[in-house]
Amino acid sequence: MEGKKLAATLQVQLIEKVKTLKTTPSLCVILIGEDPASKIYVAHKQKACQAVGIAVQLIKLPSTTSESVLLSRIDELNQDDSQHGILVQLPLPKSINTLTILKKINPHKDVDGFHPINIGLLAQGQPHFQPCTPLGILQLIDHYDIPVKGKHAVIVGASLIVGKPMALQLLDRDATVSICHKETKNLATMVAQADILVSAVGIPNLIKGDWIKPGSALFDVGITRLKDNTIAGDIEFTKAKEKATWITPVPGGVGPMTVAMLMRNTVMACENTYSLEANTHR
Ligand code: NAD
Repeated sequence: MEGKKLAATLQVQLIEKVKTLKTTPSLCVILIGEDPASKIYVAHKQKACQAVGIAVQLIKLPSTTSESVLLSRIDELNQDDSQHGILVQLPLPKSINTLTILKKINPHKDVDGFHPINIGLLAQGQPHFQPCTPLGILQLIDHYDIPVKGKHAVIVGASLIVGKPMALQLLDRDATVSICHKETKNLATMVAQADILVSAVGIPNLIKGDWIKPGSALFDVGITRLKDNTIAGDIEFTKAKEKATWITPVPGGVGPMTVAMLMRNTVMACENTYSLEANTHR
């Protein structure tokens, strides 16, 4: 599956949509500390914003930033009507409680979809902002017409940002969902049952090619930077490709779709601001 190509197509659609808006959508990204991977991800997000026509502001804070300082910066952005989307790049330094921070972001500006209200709406089957990585996988599923209803979807990795929301989304589409994690016994047996497999762990070659069910759809979310500076996913790509009908490469699969969905959510945040304003004036 060509995530990069689909993301580019979606980007063109968003560029056209942004041209029709009366206000330029805006996104504020908060980056704390010097994590090299986070810096790369933020750079990708900034570049995509510029391409789509979203005004992007980067707030860089030192790794020593206290939780209370970060909370008050978020509060300022929550109050600032010119900011449509707020994103705090994860992971945060250990001294800061991630859930406390995510809860502080105004749910109407929560373009990452991690606020408890947005996760709750997703759990109720009434999603508003949805986490970008699993949302990007849903786009690939739709684009490639991959059957989901009644299929067994196995998700490896149970994080808030990928595994858990992915499980809710696939459940909502009537898949039978299994979630595996680091304590799961016999991962091979679980993976062998998967019509749809989503792996989001970050261990290269964790998922062996000979575990794969013939005809399945494989989504490799894992990103690990190797010593030679190349990037590896979780799935043994070459062997798995022989058995699967659909497979995402790493890089160029799920990653670009994640960024495209962030752009989509930010444009949606801008549009929602209009409707909120419209309601206020009525
Ligand atoms: P995380 O560390 O929060 O969660 C990892 C999950 O993997 C946990 O649920 C853990 O129980 C599980 N796990 C660990 N070892 C395991 C094992 N041996 N067998 C089965 N499960 C195991 O990670 P995350 O933030 O969800 O990210 C996971 C990976 O996805 C990382 O490589 C990250 O870089 C990548 N990622 C990629 C994108 C993208 O856009 N492509 C987006 C987000 C994360």
